[in-house]
Amino acid sequence: MIITAVNVQIFSYPTRRAVDSAGHAHPGDVTQASMALLRIKTECGNEGYALGAPELIRPYVLDGFVRKVLVGANAFDREKIWHDLAHWQRGSASQLTDRALALVEQALWDWAGRKLNVPVHKLIGGYRDKVPAYGSTMCGDELPGGLSTPEEYGRFAETLVKRGYKAIKLHTWMPPVSFAPSVAMDIKACAAVREAVGPDIALMIDGYHWYSRTDALTIGRALEKLDFAWFEEPMMEDSAESYAWLAGQLDIPILGPESLGGKHLSRASWVKNDVCDILRAGVAGVGGIAPCLKVAHMAEAFGMDCEIHGNGAANLAVVGAIKNCTWYERGLLHPFLNYDEVPAYLKRLVDPMDEDGFVHLSDLPGLGEDIDFNYVETNTQHSY
Ligand code: MG
Repeated sequence: MIITAVNVQIFSYPTRRAVDSAGHAHPGDVTQASMALLRIKTECGNEGYALGAPELIRPYVLDGFVRKVLVGANAFDREKIWHDLAHWQRGSASQLTDRALALVEQALWDWAGRKLNVPVHKLIGGYRDKVPAYGSTMCGDELPGGLSTPEEYGRFAETLVKRGYKAIKLHTWMPPVSFAPSVAMDIKACAAVREAVGPDIALMIDGYHWYSRTDALTIGRALEKLDFAWFEEPMMEDSAESYAWLAGQLDIPILGPESLGGKHLSRASWVKNDVCDILRAGVAGVGGIAPCLKVAHMAEAFGMDCEIHGNGAANLAVVGAIKNCTWYERGLLHPFLNYDEVPAYLKRLVDPMDEDGFVHLSDLPGLGEDIDFNYVETNTQHSY
């Protein structure tokens, strides 16, 4: 099963997601965005696919590293390919990122699933066929009727519960919102949501990521009174000592690390040093499905849960393959957007949710992305 070609198509699609000056997504007018379709082809004619941001897999990255490692390799040798690519990272002057590594590895898993006619979540574990989702809100904003006040968070939470969600995670306000960050506003938003949904809905917060230890402690103590399920990334994750300090004083579980580099290796350090209560990994953040599974399995061996970061087919496949996580992160959600609308380049949602709040794992071979190849062809801007 020798890999003969690795190609990328950049295509446009309509989106209502806009990005503020600090990179946070908010609702906006309809604009055209670009997406990359990575395509790995083997000698037998089978293909595997991954969708991602074009800059991750731009021509320099594809020619300089990915093709050099993949073309001529056996597509089933994912672990060797992954390590060969990871070795290239050191000499790549930071050009070959963990996210690029993840995209390539994801396409290899998709190839294997399609080749073997098996969904990837069955191939890598096969623990469950459905999972409860938490509704993960967008960051707060200053859009009237959106997520601009604690009361609006409360009203949106009621809508999410009616839709079926049994859990909600707030992303609160961050700069450039004029009053952000605000410890007081974050606590008010959490209180408003608890008041709106009652005691039986699980709640979590992922707010400003640069709070001081003492501000984080203040929020954490408020969250304990509001019976929140976890407290996520309130401080810079580069300082493991700050997290150990915080976790040592709070009863509410501290979850992390999410944005910290270091793949599965840094997660091992967090476990050994008792830095957090629930471990965190996402496919893109740790460099692929395999390192994400390594984190989850390591956590299991230490009696810890590992909640998977982010939505999408690859993260959902990992959630479907492991026992020690409770939720799938569905979002980002906002009162002005309809998450249940199928993106133009897919024929169906990768994470359909029923009225009881369960997301059902795909039974399609591969990762479960039902790509509309006609749409991609018609809207292709360029290929390489
Ligand atoms: Mg987060």
